[in-house]
Amino acid sequence: MADSAVAPAPLTPSAPAVTALPLKAIAPWAAFFGTLMLVLLYFVGAEQSALSVFSGEAVHEWVHDGRHLLGFPCH
Ligand SMILES: [Zn+2]
Repeated sequence: MADSAVAPAPLTPSAPAVTALPLKAIAPWAAFFGTLMLVLLYFVGAEQSALSVFSGEAVHEWVHDGRHLLGFPCH
C-alpha cells in the first residue's frame, strides 16, 4: 500500500513554547492601571460639589452618562 509509506506528522510542535510572565514583571503595570482605574472611578462616581477637585460642573457633566450607567447616585 502506498499510503502506509507516508511518514506521520511529528509529535513535537515546531513553534516555540509559550512561557508564563513572572509576577514581578506584571506587578508594576497592575499597580499603575489599578491606580488609574481608581482615579477614573473617583471622577465618574464622586467628583461633585464638596468633594470636587476641579471647581464647577464641567467634569461632572462630562462623565454624567457614565455615572448613570454605573448606577451612582446623581440627581
Ligand atoms: Zn445625573
